[in-house]
This record gives sequence, structure tokens and C-alpha cells, in this order.
Amino acid sequence: MGHSRKKLDLTGQKYGHLTILEPAENIGGRTAWRCLCDCGQEVVVKTCHLRNGHTKSCGCQNGLGGPRSALGLTYMDGTCVEMIRTRTVRSNNTSGTPGVDWMAKKQRWRASICFKGKRRYLGSFKKLEDAVKARKRAEDELFEPFLKEFSQTAEDTSEPHSDQPGGILQGKGTKVL
Ligand SMILES: [Zn+2]
Repeated sequence: MGHSRKKLDLTGQKYGHLTILEPAENIGGRTAWRCLCDCGQEVVVKTCHLRNGHTKSCGCQNGLGGPRSALGLTYMDGTCVEMIRTRTVRSNNTSGTPGVDWMAKKQRWRASICFKGKRRYLGSFKKLEDAVKARKRAEDELFEPFLKEFSQTAEDTSEPHSDQPGGILQGKGTKVL
């Protein structure tokens, strides 16, 4: 490599909802940037994904039904890894615990878990704590092996030659798109 190219400086630039904070470590040999999404989530995005419009937010702005790659989320077998990792609670959730909903008609708490594209019902309970317990048990049974498998997969793909679509997680809490 004879000539040195001046490194692009995108600091302060805005792409969609992302404001570039600073250069991040390269991802698989590609330059990347630490960005702040309008929603407050920090993400690391490859330069090429910013410049070609592939990534315009941390994923929060993509709504439902967008193309998977644009979500910047990692899916394995139809299950979103980030949703499991962060134990995301939907805003319309009535209990504060994911997968536990109040059924007003029956006056019971219903526990369910969504995994690999399927919802499984875990039963309904008079007491919230019982529904939460059922949900937690199902999480441990389903999610833990799944996340373990995922982190192994992520390690396998950390080789510089593989440039996977979708995203991997880097460090704690920062998504890499
Ligand atoms: Zn966001």
C-alpha cells in the first residue's frame, strides 16, 4: 500500500437520525463511527452503511415490517437477539414484565413467550408474581441456550474476512450495525 489516503472525518455529520460522535474501531477492516441516535441510543455503524443510507437510525425508526437488514438487529431463526438481550418491554405492556399481560375479561395474568417466531402460552395466573415466575422460567429455558449459541456464533464471525449483514453487539449495550 503505497499512498496514504486521508481518513474521512465524519464527526458531527448527520445521517438520518444518527449524529456522528467520533471514529470507532474498525469493523472487519471497514471504518466505523460511534453515532448517537435521536432516541439517545449509541450505535457503531460502518462508514459504508452510513453513506449509502443503509443505516439511518439505531433501529428505533424502522418501525415494523421493514427489510431485516435495515433494522440493524440480529435475527437468528426469526428471533431478535437484541430484544431478548435487553428484555424489551413493549409500551403497551400492562405488567412491566415482557410476556405478561393482564386479561381484564378473565381477571387473570397471562404469561407467554415469543420465541423463534412462535408465541407459546405459559398459562394464566391469579397472581402477577406467578405469571412473572412462569415467564422467567421459560426465558431461562429458551433464551439462555439461545444467547449462548448466539455469542458463540458471534465469536466465530469475528474474523476480519466475514462481513455479515445485520449487526453484532460490541461492548456492552452498544449496537454495531
Ligand atoms: Zn434510535
